This record gives sequence, C-alpha cells and structure tokens, in this order.
Amino acid sequence: MNKRGRVGCRCRSAAQLSGCSVNLRVRHAPVTNILAGANTCCQKLYRIEEPAPGKSVPVVASMPHSGTFVPPSIANAFTPLHRTWLRNTDWYLPLVYDFLPELGVTTIAATHSRYVTDLNRDPEGLLFGSFHEAVIFNSMFDGTPIYQELPEAPALRQRLVDYHSPYHEELSNIIGRLLTLHERVLLLDLHSFFGPIEDDVCVGDLRGVSCRQETTNLAINAFARQRFRTVCNEPFSGGYLITETLRTLRRRRYRSSCATRRICTAVA
Ligand SMILES: [Zn+2]
Repeated sequence: MNKRGRVGCRCRSAAQLSGCSVNLRVRHAPVTNILAGANTCCQKLYRIEEPAPGKSVPVVASMPHSGTFVPPSIANAFTPLHRTWLRNTDWYLPLVYDFLPELGVTTIAATHSRYVTDLNRDPEGLLFGSFHEAVIFNSMFDGTPIYQELPEAPALRQRLVDYHSPYHEELSNIIGRLLTLHERVLLLDLHSFFGPIEDDVCVGDLRGVSCRQETTNLAINAFARQRFRTVCNEPFSGGYLITETLRTLRRRRYRSSCATRRICTAVA
C-alpha cells in the first residue's frame, strides 16, 4: 500500500479518445455521529491501493468524496452541527470497493473531507458559495450554514493549492503510467448517494459523451443481473472529475479512450 493523489480532463468526443472513465455512485443509509477530524493523524491527501505485481489491469477507480479528515484549523471554524456530521460524505466507499485491487484495479481515495475542498468541482469556478455551485461550500444543500467564522479569501485559495490540485495531479499520473502499458484505460469515478432517487444504481456517461455505448450497457447489465434497480444519467450524468481528467489526457496527447459512466449503486 502506498499513498499519493491527482486528476484532470474534459471530454466532448469519446470517439477521438482511446480511454474510458466511468462514474459509479452507491446509495447509502443516513449516517450520523461522524466526527469531523476523527481521522486526526491523517497527513496524506489520498490513499492509493495498487494490485499485486503483474496483476494490474488498465482500470483506475477514484473516490473523491470518501474522506472524513478536516484539518483542525478548518474544522474549528465550522458550526458545532457541521463539525459532528459532515453530511453528504460518500461514507465508507473504500470499504465497499476494497475488493477492486484484487481484480487488478488501481484505486485512489481522498482522505480529506469534501468540506475542505470538493475534488469534483471546478477550481476555476465559484470559489466559495452554495453546495451546488462552489468548490468550497459555505452552506449545505438546504442552505444550512457550515461556518460560524467565515474564512478569508486567501486562505480559501490556498486550499485549492494544498488539497485540490494534488489529488487531480496524482490521478492523472496514475492514468498516464497505465497508458504507457496499455492502449486504453478505464476510469471509474465512484460515489454514493442518499436521494433524490430510490433506485440502486445510476450509470453516468455525460449523456453519451464520455464512453462508448457498449461500455455503458456493460455496466448497466452487470448491475441489472444482480437485481439492482439501475438508471442511466438521471439524475447523475457525471461531474468535473471525469470531464477534467479527459481534458488533461488530451492536453498531454495521450491516446486515451475515455468513457465517463456514472454508476449509482444503492447498498442497503
Ligand atoms: Zn460523491
């Protein structure tokens, strides 16, 4: 086991690429009493799990929202409610998918909470604002304030440098290394959800942009065979992490086959 982190790309024509990225979301039950900063000795920004030597396949799985660590300097500014909840975390996802390295898949999981900086949001977009728009949230999806003491703009910008960029850069490096060994790489963007739908799995491909239809169908049919209620692209079609990864691969002139599929699985 080793540790590091990164990403980046935007895909408009999957036909021009020879890589694929798939976004998987797992529905979870309500979780309470999770302490912000419970993982108090966390220093690494992400955790990478690699297959045994010789077992690797050209598939990378990213879990950007599973982290629960909040540096004390940030957590201390949260409201007491938010400090003890971290609602909308993708709870326990690394445990759900801990079998992937045995199948040859390289995984990278964030250790820091999305409330430090959201790795699935555009760092060049709104810096500080609502849960639905900003890369750093000032409120929850229902408008509940997150901070009792608002952070200064320079400190917010520094968070992007310290916490957002490294994860994306490391993910990009992992994909790049695999592309030196394989013609194509599949990126799985793994998430969980609790509403707004009651289905079990949502497979997202940026509405046909990020991967071939065969790849989408493969994922949908695999879940359907296990009797999961599976939908495609509604309400989750894919986010910043996949689109930015595809853009980065293009910029680096990799021959990447990028398939962006978002799969939402409900684990009861
Ligand atoms: Zn997520």
